[in-house]
Amino acid sequence: MQDNSRAGNHLSIEMVDFNPEWQFEDHKTGIFYKNGIIPQKLFITYLGGNIHPESARKALISLEKIFKSGGLTNSDYIRIADYNKVISATFNTRVLYANTLNRLNEEYHSRPIATYICGASLLLKTMLRLFASYVKQEFIFVSTVEDAFDLINANVQPSLSKKDGQITISQQEIDRFAALCGNLLFNENFTFDEQKNGVTPEDPLHDLYTIISLLNHDLKELQKAEKEQKEEIEQALEHSRILNTRLTEEKKLVEKKEQIQQILIKKLNQAKIEAEIATMAKSEFLANISHEIITPLHAVIGMTELLCYTPLNGEQKNYTDTIQSSTQQLYQLLNNILDFSKADSGQIDSNTILIDIKALFNDIASLLNESAIKKNLRLTLSLPASTPSDLFGYPEYLKQALINLVQNAIKFTSQGEIILSIEPVSETPDTITLRISISDTGIGIPEEKKDLVFQKFTQVDSSPTRKEGGTGLGLAITKQLVELMGGKLELSSRENEGSKFSFVLSFIKPNESSKKNDENSVTPYTGSLHETSPRTPMQSSGTKSLSSIRILLVEDNAINQRVASAMLNKLGFTIDIAANGIEAIDALRQTAYSLVIMDLQMPLMGGLEATREIRKMESGILISSDIPIIAMTANATQQDKKNCLNAGMNDFISKPVTMPTLKELLNKWVK
Ligand code: ADP
Repeated sequence: MQDNSRAGNHLSIEMVDFNPEWQFEDHKTGIFYKNGIIPQKLFITYLGGNIHPESARKALISLEKIFKSGGLTNSDYIRIADYNKVISATFNTRVLYANTLNRLNEEYHSRPIATYICGASLLLKTMLRLFASYVKQEFIFVSTVEDAFDLINANVQPSLSKKDGQITISQQEIDRFAALCGNLLFNENFTFDEQKNGVTPEDPLHDLYTIISLLNHDLKELQKAEKEQKEEIEQALEHSRILNTRLTEEKKLVEKKEQIQQILIKKLNQAKIEAEIATMAKSEFLANISHEIITPLHAVIGMTELLCYTPLNGEQKNYTDTIQSSTQQLYQLLNNILDFSKADSGQIDSNTILIDIKALFNDIASLLNESAIKKNLRLTLSLPASTPSDLFGYPEYLKQALINLVQNAIKFTSQGEIILSIEPVSETPDTITLRISISDTGIGIPEEKKDLVFQKFTQVDSSPTRKEGGTGLGLAITKQLVELMGGKLELSSRENEGSKFSFVLSFIKPNESSKKNDENSVTPYTGSLHETSPRTPMQSSGTKSLSSIRILLVEDNAINQRVASAMLNKLGFTIDIAANGIEAIDALRQTAYSLVIMDLQMPLMGGLEATREIRKMESGILISSDIPIIAMTANATQQDKKNCLNAGMNDFISKPVTMPTLKELLNKWVK
């Protein structure tokens, strides 16, 4: 037994002398060749990089310097070569290296007892095994330099068997070797193991068998590696095939989803169009049905009024009063529905126009003052003097919203006052923002009902015994109108103390040129049911008796004809009736009328066209073409009124026509 721990026998890397003369390093290519020795005991080489013959040749010069130094003169030293950092080395390089080493070993009588190869590739291992008998040394393959030192220090140093004598080979041995080679060449599954196949070290062909055995072993390893690689490739291929299939499926799924999405978008668009058509149809239906109901209602209202002008006994008076208040309510409901359908389809005002906001507030106050007074309420206007009189806004929306809110305030207040006010919020050179509020001292709205009242057909008190009538549409319409103007209707209220409805609106201020150019400008609602005319009223021709004043009533609806003519007769005028524009022009050609009351929608020729014709016919009619023409319209929009004035009409009278308004109008135009 040897004592490995004995000092002197134990070798370590720290004991190695790395003489600078023995080193080679090329920084450009990264090749290095570092040599060191423990004199007479160990020779270590670290190789690295792409070792091509060119640089190997240079490196081997340093190798010779080691042998020359005389530190390796006996045959007992151990050699360690570290191939771990070798990236590649050509066959030529390896041969060059082996030859040089062999030559130096012989020349300097310094062949190592054993060589430890660290981190050699499979090919290098095979080559070295082949070289082993040629260079007459044993190669021990380990992973790292540390492993080599460990083995050396464990004293596992195999001895080299010397075999350089002459050998004699029998025919039988050659045949056996040939058979083996044949098997190896043509039988893929054949494996050769020198020990298992009974080849003894004494066999003259032992070395050849060893080489064949090693080659066969390496080949098998290569084949195994190749098979594993093939399997891995197959697996990867299979994997990619599966991925491909999945990808195709995913693609199909995405395509399908896209198709569904397209279909959904189409359907949604279709549904949107249908919904829009349905909304329009609904609005149109509401407008039509309301219009159809309003026409006979006008007759009922008119006829009831006429009835009131006849001598009635107490009971009859009672009945007619009830008819009047009921028809008034029905009329209000229909107007609300009509307004709602108009606002819903954006029919009222499409553009802002120049309005006199102070005048508009005054008109509303004088329009509703009477109903306030009837309930002993004060209706107060609070308009700051700084409020500009001309602003661009939506007069119809604003007027309708204010009427609704003030009417409600009057309706739900039994004592105190209603204040209609404007407060400036902010101002820029081009715009002014105003807060518009309507406050009352009425019954108020409970906190929990505040949101509800803005919904259609909703009332705080919907019991059959409630005091006030109504449709529950007013606030819903008002909210919508305020929103159409760009505001938001707000409510603050305390039960039994009062309510305040308010909204903030921004108005554009007119500049000088826009004031002049605003053709749309129409003087707003005047509080009475007619509007101021841009044309001069006709002067009466002295003290004529009313019956000598002939009025042409142009109206297609028989009931309306009867109502209007009955009222006009009652007022003392002489009436002729034309059923459309053409008949009206004919009548004007034959008779000198003092005034024309003209419906707008009539068959054959409507009111606007007829008016234009009359204004054109300077000489064709008996009196001046300047004859006053009054439009008789139901629910005229701002646009309708503008169209009337543009066509040459002088004034409007709204249906249902009532005796006082008719009288007032005729007083104005016929004296
Ligand atoms: P209606 O035609 O019933 O007045 P509205 O939509 O205008 O319909 O109003 C809905 C409900 O809101 C009313 O029935 C009433 O209960 C309540 N309301 C509206 N304005 C006022 C107010 N100024 N004071 C108290 N309650 C009000």
